[in-house]
Amino acid sequence: MGLLAAGTPLPWHEARNLADHIRSEGIEQLLEVFKAAGKRDNDPLYWGDELEYMMIELDSTEQNAMVDVIHDKVLTDLNTTENFLCQENDIEFHPEYGRYMLEATPESPYHGLKFTQEFIEDNMKRRRVIADALLSKYNQPENGKKYVVLALTVFPRLGSDQFINIPHVWNHKNSASRSLFLPDEVINRHVRFPTLTANIRERRGEKVYMNIPMFKDINTPDHDTTVYERNWFIPEDMESLKASKPGHIYLDGMGFGMGSSCLQMTYQAPNVEMARFLYDSLINFAPIMLSVSAAAPAFKGWLADQDVRWNVISGAVDCRTPYERDVEPILPKYNSGGFGSVTEEAKKHLQKIPKSRYSVVDLYLGGHNKFFNRNYNNTNVPINEKVLKRLLENNVAPLDYDLAKHFAHLFIRDSCSIFEESINQDRTTSTNHFENIQSTNWQTLRFKPPTQKAIPSEKNIPGWRVEFRPLEVQLTEFENAAHSIFIYLVVEAVLDSYNTLNPYLNMSKVWENMDIAHKRDSVLQNKFHWKTTFQSENGNTDLYSIDEIFHNKKNGIFETFINKALIKRNWIKSTWTELQNSTTHKRYYYYLKLISDRASGKLPTTAHFLRDFITTHKDYRHDSRVSKLINYDLVLLSDRITNLDNSQGDLIAFFGDDIANFLLENQI
Ligand code: ADP
Ligand code: MG
Ligand code: MG
Ligand code: MG
Ligand code: MG
Ligand code: MG
Repeated sequence: MGLLAAGTPLPWHEARNLADHIRSEGIEQLLEVFKAAGKRDNDPLYWGDELEYMMIELDSTEQNAMVDVIHDKVLTDLNTTENFLCQENDIEFHPEYGRYMLEATPESPYHGLKFTQEFIEDNMKRRRVIADALLSKYNQPENGKKYVVLALTVFPRLGSDQFINIPHVWNHKNSASRSLFLPDEVINRHVRFPTLTANIRERRGEKVYMNIPMFKDINTPDHDTTVYERNWFIPEDMESLKASKPGHIYLDGMGFGMGSSCLQMTYQAPNVEMARFLYDSLINFAPIMLSVSAAAPAFKGWLADQDVRWNVISGAVDCRTPYERDVEPILPKYNSGGFGSVTEEAKKHLQKIPKSRYSVVDLYLGGHNKFFNRNYNNTNVPINEKVLKRLLENNVAPLDYDLAKHFAHLFIRDSCSIFEESINQDRTTSTNHFENIQSTNWQTLRFKPPTQKAIPSEKNIPGWRVEFRPLEVQLTEFENAAHSIFIYLVVEAVLDSYNTLNPYLNMSKVWENMDIAHKRDSVLQNKFHWKTTFQSENGNTDLYSIDEIFHNKKNGIFETFINKALIKRNWIKSTWTELQNSTTHKRYYYYLKLISDRASGKLPTTAHFLRDFITTHKDYRHDSRVSKLINYDLVLLSDRITNLDNSQGDLIAFFGDDIANFLLENQI
């Protein structure tokens, strides 16, 4: 079930005293998992996706679109009174950070691509249609109010004037985030979420801040003119003017990041060794796929000079103190030594930490693969030495160095969310403390160990899985299915290539790729590090455009991975374009064509398309602002695309003739 149990989350000054307890018990739980499940083998390739949606109010009288925070009962209903609808349709809804958000998954995982009658796309569509039907009950045609469920990566005016559908939302203070722009009403009502928000801020000793490059047009001001002085909270309200940078959009709350949506997929590997190989193989796909899936051109009512959400979330949940980030505190007087509010004992052991707990993958997991070499892990990755030692030296289930190091890195973080009722857990049956740290290390991939129940004979209990997390969510089920299936095929090819394909390149190059993926239109304008070949012992790379990375004959993704998987399936003889003439798998041709055309620049990314819509809108003043009217029209446009409505020609503009006509003639 998708609802969180109630409980009493501890405020930071109490939670911080339990940091070591959570870590050391979490590691014992992990060791019990390895002891129980380390020898599992031959698990099937089960997999599933997670899609995140926003509930949005469209007010035709005011010509305004707002995030809808007053109908979060829809999520409760989907898990209680209306749950039968979910069960009948093999879908499930979970809470998300935003009160206006819904997360939805299939109820049971898919197995391979056995969906010839029913495509994954059908399951995705039922999720949106069912949520939308429940939300639409609140429509008030007489007042011009309509509610829609959309998969927008970022709500473009989040944090701007009249962006939320509560009239007097600023008649009281927002004590959890203390943001100048986001009232606490954007946050899910479950106590976990506001507490996490406050705890991250308190640990840092200052509000989070993100300075996102502003798109520069002829009338764009030289700084974010929406930053203002307020005196509700000392010192947080004094930080903003100091923290905001000229030429940048200034964001100061967790909601700016965790209030955005993404698409994630989880794939089960046959055993732990193959899960490690799969993880390592997907590492450099993450920045590449982030670039191709770009869908976020605007934040807080400003056009950004980037197309993706990623670094916004990184900053939004960054609990590191100024000392750990190796920067001066914004207000040294209030944040002495940059130590935030960690305990006196913790201060003695603080280290410099280069990255937020939400960031690109840190380490290859290695294993027995003949191509792996520890030197590929060539970046500065701090670890928890005590955890490392315990994982290496114990009588429960000792780990090898590379795997131990991965967890020893995750376990440098403090827990920012502890429930009083969960402090004491049984190591042999609970993974609560392990998951506390694991699930708040939000990296581009997640290596998901099973539970202690996953002994080799328990095939129905999930085994070793790898989650792919960088993707921006797309408006239509067609696109989201296309992305999940594309990576699924890569996964099939990888699992078939142990010791024959060499996925390794220096980790520092992957980190650089992540920065490159943040450039505006990186899909067209930039070059990324990519392997010159996957068929040799070495880790040589060169710089390639996204088009080359996908389409090169020698080392491109289509040739090396997609065609390989499709040939093995007997769907094609040599190249994926043969699927165009297939009677049974034609839809897959269009999934792959979408990705191919976006990678080559024949079709715009969602971000590019929405940016063009904004800059050519009649209300646009060449000042980089996304006005209420532009935003309203953008949401209407998004709603038409979502519903494959071509009445105004949007579908053709967005997908091109070929894909649009296929979709119109072959509706699911
Ligand atoms: P999280 O939020 O922790 O990433 P969720 O439970 O929201 O995880 O989603 C995980 C996804 O994994 C869902 O799509 C689910 O269907 C899928 N899944 C469930 N069991 C398995 C399994 N054994 N192997 C792979 N994927 C699975
Ligand atoms: Mg989830
Ligand atoms: Mg879950
Ligand atoms: Mg989610
Ligand atoms: Mg509706
Ligand atoms: Mg997930």
